[in-house]
Amino acid sequence: MTKGDLRKLYKQKRMALSRAECQKMDQLIFEYLLSLDWSDCRYLHVYLPFGKFNEPDTSLLIEWIRTNYPHIHLVLSRSDIQQGTMTNYLWDEHTELVMNTWGILEPIAGKMLSEDLIDMVLVPLLIADKKGNRVGYGKGFYDRFLAQCRSDVRTIGLSYFEPVDHIEPVDPWDIALQYCVCPSGLYVFE
Ligand code: ADP
Ligand code: MG
Repeated sequence: MTKGDLRKLYKQKRMALSRAECQKMDQLIFEYLLSLDWSDCRYLHVYLPFGKFNEPDTSLLIEWIRTNYPHIHLVLSRSDIQQGTMTNYLWDEHTELVMNTWGILEPIAGKMLSEDLIDMVLVPLLIADKKGNRVGYGKGFYDRFLAQCRSDVRTIGLSYFEPVDHIEPVDPWDIALQYCVCPSGLYVFE
């Protein structure tokens, strides 16, 4: 299936999930995330979910990281919707978050961080394939952002659905995932 067809299909599939189904899958995804090696992570880039689009919730992991790895710095982005770019901020107790026009909380000020610092990224997606290729919302925000990150950054997609066989086309700007965590397990790509 093409990226466009997959985008449409998986948007619909996600919207058909009930709150209870999402919460159950969030718990399973969280449990698989715990099995990743967090020991050498210093800067973890996270996203706050697009509630109305049923994005996998990151809050269980964020709370767990804050409790168990308090030295890990959390990083959140502010999106520039016109440019399709993201600016990264340290997310600590001083960071003021404001709802953007998409209904996502984001930092509006604070300590800006270079992409070079980031060790791991939780990546939102609509669907991945068995090679780690990824379909997002079609605006390329994460492709542009990940292109600025270090080559050894670890990218972890979060998905309610198992990877499909193939995404086509994979475009030159697409950046594949290294891991995808689903309710059925943790997929590791080459
Ligand atoms: P998504 O990854 O959100 O599913 P696509 O891969 O289809 O979306 O990309 C959407 C748009 O973003 C494309 O039109 C592409 O030209 C643009 N884009 C993606 N990455 C880059 C980049 N690194 N530089 C410039 N444009 C980019
Ligand atoms: Mg892409």
